[in-house]
This record gives sequence, structure tokens and C-alpha cells, in this order.
Amino acid sequence: MPSTEATNGIKGTNASSLKHGDEDIVIVGGSLGGLFAGVALKSHGYNTTILERTPTFLLENQGAGIVAGGDTIDFFNKYDRTGKPVAVPSFKRLYLNKKGDVIHEEVNRQNMTSWDLAYYLLRANYDRVYSDYLQGGKLPEQRPKDGKVNYRYGCTVTDIIDQRERVLVKFTRQDDSGNQVEDHLTTKLLIAADGPSSTIRSFLEPQIKRTYAGYVVIRGTVPETEASEASLSVFKERFCFFHAPGTQNLTYTIAGENGTTEPGKRLLNFVWYANFPEGSPELEKLMTDKDGRRRHITIPPGKIAWEAWEMLKSKADEILPPQMAEMAHKTKTPFVQCITDVISPKNLYMGDKVVLVGDALAGFRPHTVASTSQAAFDVMSLVKWLDGEIDRREFVKRVMEYARDVQAKGVRIGNRSQFETLEVKEYIEDRNMMSTPHKDIVFPEWTREGLDEI
Ligand SMILES: Cc1cc2nc3c(=O)[nH]c(=O)nc-3n(C[C@H](O)[C@H](O)[C@H](O)COP(=O)(O)OP(=O)(O)OC[C@H]3O[C@@H](n4cnc5c(N)ncnc54)[C@H](O)[C@@H]3O)c2cc1C
Repeated sequence: MPSTEATNGIKGTNASSLKHGDEDIVIVGGSLGGLFAGVALKSHGYNTTILERTPTFLLENQGAGIVAGGDTIDFFNKYDRTGKPVAVPSFKRLYLNKKGDVIHEEVNRQNMTSWDLAYYLLRANYDRVYSDYLQGGKLPEQRPKDGKVNYRYGCTVTDIIDQRERVLVKFTRQDDSGNQVEDHLTTKLLIAADGPSSTIRSFLEPQIKRTYAGYVVIRGTVPETEASEASLSVFKERFCFFHAPGTQNLTYTIAGENGTTEPGKRLLNFVWYANFPEGSPELEKLMTDKDGRRRHITIPPGKIAWEAWEMLKSKADEILPPQMAEMAHKTKTPFVQCITDVISPKNLYMGDKVVLVGDALAGFRPHTVASTSQAAFDVMSLVKWLDGEIDRREFVKRVMEYARDVQAKGVRIGNRSQFETLEVKEYIEDRNMMSTPHKDIVFPEWTREGLDEI
């Protein structure tokens, strides 16, 4: 049945049952998407509990550069109270040929941040976690109208059950003696920010699987002081690209330790897409970690097998421009991720008591540089719906047309880049298309098909 009214008892402006009461909105996943939700909801007076499966205080430092899209910047402009800049701007894009010569140059502002800087600024805003990333900013004070917050580690959600008015959220956690125990919570609203392999989505849409796209991304960082003059001259404060059949490499400057943007203390971040066909011996070798375990999607920093890394370095020497091959040789903690596709047909479930956001809703290919922005946008739209600024129909439309459009574009430009041989200008056009500001995107009609049924 088409519906435009929320059925979770929240109903737009009637959010009082969630606001400032004892009720907690439960957020599954405490990475950037979950923290966006926590920070925004806190600031609008909602109480939240974040359940994060990672057992330790800090999520594994992803040590990776992130292109901060417009919605990410909008989110920080709106909700950040630390006053610390989240991004380093880069003003130029360079394209290299195999010899390492610059073959194209254009002015194009892009904001670079890093996963850990964004994470720590969000933690400071959510539950006032102090870190050295706050240098130059401040730890925000709690305001009287802020909602209550609770970030719980080591809590792995194992099931959700529709109980008409509420959702029962089952999870496991460690008790004081270190034993795994079962626990549960109930809530009127559960936000699934549990990433592209979302457990919550798998309960709701078990037939939807993450599928391998036929190539991987190899990532790593090198301190700018360790780079040669030849490399620094192209990478410093630049966004630098290289394309060849089956390969794409991007290298750029990001903030260094503790988020410092001081020249000399920053990092060069390299991102190298390379084809590894499904089922090939090379893929098996690459994805088998140093302990002999075949990893499904990610080889985290420090886990790559020596033979696999040697294989990648030889490949780098063979196909990359010398400056980019140098980065592959100099990085100390490379990590590898299989590129995958996934999208859910809907963002609302269980009578609007469960909402998927960010990668849990749609896992974009990284060429879109829009994943973090999607999470920020979904959350800002959700808060507008809860506060009655937009209605349910508008909320669904905004979030779904964006998810569908960007997900499809990512598949298209990713496949063109990895599996076709194009003129440099075509790669540039694809990339520039992904830089279109969100407000200027004209979403095709098909992205709205069937939304009234959600
Ligand atoms: C190396 C790297 C580089 C990236 N580069 C870019 C970039 O350039 N631009 C960009 O926009 N984005 C980039 N991204 C993506 C970006 O970081 C994510 O899109 C963003 O963090 C939002 O993701 P998310 O919070 O929705 O999901 P995730 O970051 O995947 O987080 C999901 C969280 O849920 C937790 N979780 C999962 N299952 C459960 C469960 N059952 N119970 C409890 N907790 C659970 C996980 O432990 C994790 O903390 C990059 C990501 C990585 C890893």
C-alpha cells in the first residue's frame, strides 16, 4: 500500500515521543555514517545509543584519504562544534602518462580529508572524546537541549524483530569477565549504519548480495618528507591521475598525524585500482593474508602477505608512472579492498521503524567519491523528516533518487575505466560528472520509479 505518513509513531512534527524523553534511537554501526546520525540527532534533542561491534575504544584507524564531497562539508558546517577544519583543499588536477609526464592539467577545487580526522571530530561532537586531532579546535560543551548519547563498543547486532510499536534489537557483548553474552534493547527507531555488508539489510533483504566488480583497490600513505622531489612536484597539493588499460591510479595530499595540515607533516595518499578477475590465481594470492586466511573483501593494514605485496610492487613497476610506483614501494601499511556493488531497493522497513543509511543502503564504487557524502546526506534528510521539515514522501525521494543515481553512475564509470580503453578526455569527463554539486544533479525519472510503494 502506498503510504506517505510514517507509521513508526514519529510522524514528522510529532517527534515528541522520541525527543527529550527516555526513549533512545538505536544506531547500528559507529563508523562515519553512525556518527553522523548520532551527532545530528543529539543536536536536535534526540537521545541515541550507538551499537558498534568493534570491541576496542578506537575503530581500526583506516589511515586513508577521503574526498570530502559537498554533503560532508555541509554536515560539518552545520553540526561541527570543534571549529577544526575537516578538509584540506586541493586546487589542481593533473594527469600523468606512463613516463610520468604531465599530459593534462586543470583547475578544480576538491576537499580532501582523512577517515580518522573525520572520525575523531565526530567523536568529539558526539560523546566528547578528546584526541590530538582537536589541536586548533576545542572539545564542544554539552548544551542543555542536546540529546543524551551512548557509544557502546563490542556490541554485535545479531537479529531484529518487529514488535508492532517497537523493534527488538538483539546483540552480543562482552560482560565484565570477558565472556560473550546475549543482550537486547527495544526502540521505536533503528538506524542501520552498518556498512556495505549490512547485517540489518541482510535480515530485511536476504536475496541482496554484495557482488565483486572484477577489480580491487590498493591503498596506502607515504609521509611527504619521504617522497622524492620528482614525486612531490606532482603530488603536493595536487590531485594526480593515471589511466591505462585495467589500471587507474590517483595520488594526493592528505592531512598527516593527528589531522595536521602543516607542510612537511602531511601524507601522500595513493589509491590504485587494478583488475583481478574473479577466480583467478592472482586474486586468490592477493586476498590470502599473511596468516594464510582467505579474506572475502578486505586485507587490512599490516595483514598483506609478503608474496602478494611483492607481486603488487612488480606490477607497479611494470605499469605505473615512476612517481606512483615509488609510492607503492614506500608505503609501509598497504591495504587492499575488493570493489563491490550493492544497493537496497528501499530505505524504510518494518513500518518505518528501521531506516538504512549510507553504505548500508547503497555501497557506491569509490570513483564516485560520494560514499561519505551519501551517509551525511541521508542523515541530514532523516533529521528533517523527523523534525517535520519535509514529509515522508520527500524523505524517501531525496534519499533513494540519490542512492540509485550515484550507484549506477559508479558502476558505469568504474567499468569504463577498468574494462575499456578510453581517450584521456573521456576519463576526465566521467570524473568531472561526479564532481557535479548535489543540488545541480538532474536525477533521471527511473530513479523515482516505484518510490510510492516504499
Ligand atoms: C579505505 C577507505 C577509503 C575510502 N575513501 C572514500 C572517499 O574517498 N570518499 C568517500 O566518500 N568515501 C570513502 N570511503 C567510504 C567511507 O568511509 C564510508 O562510506 C563512510 O564511512 C560511511 O560508511 P558507513 O558508516 O555507512 O559504513 P562503514 O564505514 O562500513 O561502517 C559500518 C560500521 O558498522 C559496524 N557494524 C557492521 N555490522 C555490525 C553489526 N552487526 N553490529 C554492530 N556494528 C556493526 C562496523 O564495524 C563499522 O564500524 C572510504 C572507505 C574506506 C574504508
